[in-house]
Amino acid sequence: MADVDYYEVLGVPRNATKEEIKAAFRKLALQYHPDRNKSPEAEEKFKLISEAYAVLSDDEKRREYDAEGAEGFGRKHSEEDIFSGVDFGDIFRDLNMEDFFQTLFGYGPSSAQRGSDIHVSLKLSFEEAVKGVQKTIRIKRIEVCPTCGGTGAAPGTARKTCPTCGGTGYVRKVSGIGFARFVQVVPCNTCGGRGYVIEKPCPTCGGTGYVRKERSIIVDVPAGVEDGEVLRLAGQGNAGRSGRSGDVYVHLTVAPHPTFARDGNDVVVDITIPMSKAALGGDIEVPTLEGKQVVHISPGTQPGSTIRIKGAGVRGRGASGDEVVRINVQIPKKLTERQRQLLEEFEKEEENRDSFFSRFRGRRLAPLDLTRALPPTPTPRDIPFCRFQQQLCV
Ligand SMILES: [Zn+2]
Ligand SMILES: [Zn+2]
Repeated sequence: MADVDYYEVLGVPRNATKEEIKAAFRKLALQYHPDRNKSPEAEEKFKLISEAYAVLSDDEKRREYDAEGAEGFGRKHSEEDIFSGVDFGDIFRDLNMEDFFQTLFGYGPSSAQRGSDIHVSLKLSFEEAVKGVQKTIRIKRIEVCPTCGGTGAAPGTARKTCPTCGGTGYVRKVSGIGFARFVQVVPCNTCGGRGYVIEKPCPTCGGTGYVRKERSIIVDVPAGVEDGEVLRLAGQGNAGRSGRSGDVYVHLTVAPHPTFARDGNDVVVDITIPMSKAALGGDIEVPTLEGKQVVHISPGTQPGSTIRIKGAGVRGRGASGDEVVRINVQIPKKLTERQRQLLEEFEKEEENRDSFFSRFRGRRLAPLDLTRALPPTPTPRDIPFCRFQQQLCV
């Protein structure tokens, strides 16, 4: 310990009140914050003002110091002695200086820890993801002990400031060989770096201040969520030493639907219509999220073409989506005798028409490109009536 005038160190008169001493210490502690004060003396200076504060803030030690002077007091008290009973933790929390300790000594009082996060997965049906749903999840989390309120001390007792480190959670260890001296700052052994000791541990938590609890949490899944999305429930995770809890992250998986698929907020439906309907046009019924709806097919609709039903998609966050109806055209695999006759006539008519037009244009019409979107490509054998056989046979 230093043989100096503690009043001078803190810059207060000898008759200063406790409040004045505390205020002076706070001011100096901030001044020697390593983030603001990069001078090499800052650390030593900080330790000195801490020592001065430890003595002058304690009525008994202050009386002794006043009576015997720095030298007399120094002979009687070890450094450990001086710091015993001083709740620095309280002052540093007050000044929000936990970071300060971390910067200066490489770690801080363990009170600064935020609780850890919890990750859970949640399965949703397609409809639940589209419309939103309220779900209950079960989690196991660390909570502040209800018996002791997190102090770890049995009811009716209190935890005490660690006598070894004075509540800071660290001690200075001086070692050296010859002239070389090393000052190391290490976590306090007595309190395990916590800054306090518990004489009678709480029977519920055994002195840890925390208990493990299984909880049901209600998750409000908003409408329009997608597979792979993650929801965050702030502050629902494990309790932390600072009182700040971690978060719960809910990882969503959405089951596929037999009819609908998602493309962002759009819903995609595949509809197969008969060949004749594609050629002639007409009305068809399609499923939507709100039930069946009639959609008009224009004459000459091609396989693979799409019809968009505005606003029939997912009404989620942002703009509402549409329903996209993808049209497949079914080519019959088996024909009745009558159908065969009709199609043969149809074919003849097509050939006549082609040659009629070719006389005008001097060339044959290019056949329609049906290969692009034909659903499962039929083999030529299955479609003996097809006038594009040449093309399909390639
Ligand atoms: Zn407890
Ligand atoms: Zn300690």
